Amino acid sequence: TLREMEPKDQQLMVALRIRPLNSTELEEGATVIAHKVGDQTSRVASKTMALVLMDPGEDPEDPLRAHRSRERTFIFDTVFDQQASQETVYCATIQHLVEGVISGYNATVFAYGPSGAGKTHTMLGMDAEPGIYLQTLTDLFQAIEETQDNMEYSVSMSYLEIYNEVIRDLLNPSSGFLELREDSRGSIQIAGITEVSTSNAQEIMQLLSKGNRQRTQEPTATNKTSSRSHAVLQVTVHQRRRGGGAEEVRLGRLFMVDLAGSERAAQTQNQGKRMKEGAHINRSLLALGNCINALSEKGGSRAQYVNFRDSKLTRLLKDALGGNSRTVMIAHISPASTSFEESRTTLLYAYRAKNI
Ligand code: ADP
Ligand code: MG
Repeated sequence: TLREMEPKDQQLMVALRIRPLNSTELEEGATVIAHKVGDQTSRVASKTMALVLMDPGEDPEDPLRAHRSRERTFIFDTVFDQQASQETVYCATIQHLVEGVISGYNATVFAYGPSGAGKTHTMLGMDAEPGIYLQTLTDLFQAIEETQDNMEYSVSMSYLEIYNEVIRDLLNPSSGFLELREDSRGSIQIAGITEVSTSNAQEIMQLLSKGNRQRTQEPTATNKTSSRSHAVLQVTVHQRRRGGGAEEVRLGRLFMVDLAGSERAAQTQNQGKRMKEGAHINRSLLALGNCINALSEKGGSRAQYVNFRDSKLTRLLKDALGGNSRTVMIAHISPASTSFEESRTTLLYAYRAKNI
């Protein structure tokens, strides 16, 4: 039955990934101020791990500050340091969700963090080190293959971006702005979105890179190729027991979201158009944080106040963030002393997503 298949996982996992120092940071003389602590060898996803962030601005010789700790500890479900491979990150976060998706459960993965912190590396990666998209899809189609004798599947995908609170179809950019509608059962639909039927991971990856060339990318003062939009890959799996009736069709949805850079508008010296983008990004990330925070205490008294309508992103993901779904948030930071403030706000956001 459905109950027996239910993955025995926590509904929400918040992970942190620290990328290696890059050459610019090394040239600037940056030091590493973020350290993972805890069991380095544990492969158990639910194991709680801590990250310690040192404040480079606090001088220990300063008598006024001498008694104040320069270290701040943040607790996450799991922490990946610069040695963690793409496979390690995938196995500890998403891998166990795949089985749920082909059994009719929803799963959502977010990459959160400032521009340049490694979100796209985690999600897309490179040919030699594929990220979560390819690893998830490969396992998904493998799981389908293995259960084909008893089950019939059909898989489709769509790929969109949300830029300045407007939804664009990345597989058909000429279709203009898309609207969200609620169907008769109250579930969210994107009117007119391109849904491509597919039967293998490579095909989806090709459509993804085609879609990525359509993304809205604008230079900002902090990062020339920073992405100012949220990119949402949606994979839908229809599943039916062979010989079963039409009423036995189940739907599993997988959302994989490469979020817009979380750096605050104020930090990028933005003006005019850039400032408006920043405001939209802040608003949707704030709304997302609130929704995830409410998820983390599902059944608690505050859950009823979740307002999915606060942004396009949370409205679109309403079904995926509630009900029978699993959510993974992977926050990203640079370990560099020069990124202290950005890392601190990222850690606070991710930490708050899970802890009240
Ligand atoms: P974002 O999408 O958050 O703006 P990127 O994923 O584009 O950041 O990462 C910025 C740069 O750092 C890229 O050149 C990327 O290849 C590199 N990078 C990010 N994370 C890692 C990592 N864990 N290991 C090696 N290189 C990384
Ligand atoms: Mg990116």
